[in-house]
Amino acid sequence: MKKSLLALSMAGAMMLSVTPVVDAVGNGPNYGGNETVNTSILHTYDELSDFLQKEHAKQQDMELEVIGQTVKGRDLYLVKYMKNRDNPTILFLTQQHGNEQLTTEGALEFVKHLGTGKMKGVTDDVNILIVPMLNADGAMGDVDFSLDDYVASGDRNLTRYNALGIDLNRDHITKIQPETKALHDNVMRKYDIDYMIDLHHQGTQSAIDNEYVSGSILYPTTPNVDEDVVLKSKQLGAVVYDAIEAKGWGHLGKYNGGSAETISRNGIAVEYGISTLLFEMRGMSDHFYESYVLGQKSNGYLIKQTITTLDATVRAIADRSIETKDVSFWDTLPFQTNRTTE
Ligand SMILES: [Zn+2]
Repeated sequence: MKKSLLALSMAGAMMLSVTPVVDAVGNGPNYGGNETVNTSILHTYDELSDFLQKEHAKQQDMELEVIGQTVKGRDLYLVKYMKNRDNPTILFLTQQHGNEQLTTEGALEFVKHLGTGKMKGVTDDVNILIVPMLNADGAMGDVDFSLDDYVASGDRNLTRYNALGIDLNRDHITKIQPETKALHDNVMRKYDIDYMIDLHHQGTQSAIDNEYVSGSILYPTTPNVDEDVVLKSKQLGAVVYDAIEAKGWGHLGKYNGGSAETISRNGIAVEYGISTLLFEMRGMSDHFYESYVLGQKSNGYLIKQTITTLDATVRAIADRSIETKDVSFWDTLPFQTNRTTE
């Protein structure tokens, strides 16, 4: 049932992209326009689990590991394509914030692509690690606090915080929560990772050039990070920017982020020397602030934005073109601001 709905929204997105639809994501309806936001169309944790196990059974090159458990005891997964340890390695992390789920939907679709002919040979030259839905308890609304004021309808509400009400993306120094501890102990410390993209969703009102953005990106901005790590992070961003801007529906700004090392974009870059990119896509799956939640008509584009991001970066690392990528676009990319008119 959900699969056919997802297929439908993907088909819709593909149909529309035949004719150039500039800023289609930006024009996507806000929740405030009485749009439907029904969480039932999103993968539940159990459905994600089934999906990964089925793909694992089908795909010879795919490994599936459990790296730990959430507060409520859900297994946390690592999807792994690692043919040669000497190859460069990229990690994709989704849903540290449980109410930011379309990034996970895109990552699952990408896993499916990796098992098909269109990705043939790519994993010979790049290692891919994917940790989907790190905050599985928040994604399922299985938390020790009330979500009564959250706006989405459907079989569950989704929240940013883990079951104990902690923001996992402020826990990358202390690593006290079981979810962040599992990520650091069994992924960050265990593999020689070169690149990481941390995938999120932000509110709906961010804009550049007075048009809503489909997302915003940023490299590490703490003074403690190596210059070379920043350069490679900017190259990672350049690959993403070029791939998304080439689509009629993509419109990216520069995220206005701070220097705190409690967040993964900064902390992981400093601690492990990994080049990181934060990608904040438009609109959340659920929240108690109406203006943060996006009507689900844009879902197809935002899922495609995730798939495009993962596909483009994997290919650019595999063929090493990322290493000579020009980063000068960062100097002119406008910081997003809240849209002022309409
Ligand atoms: Zn987030």
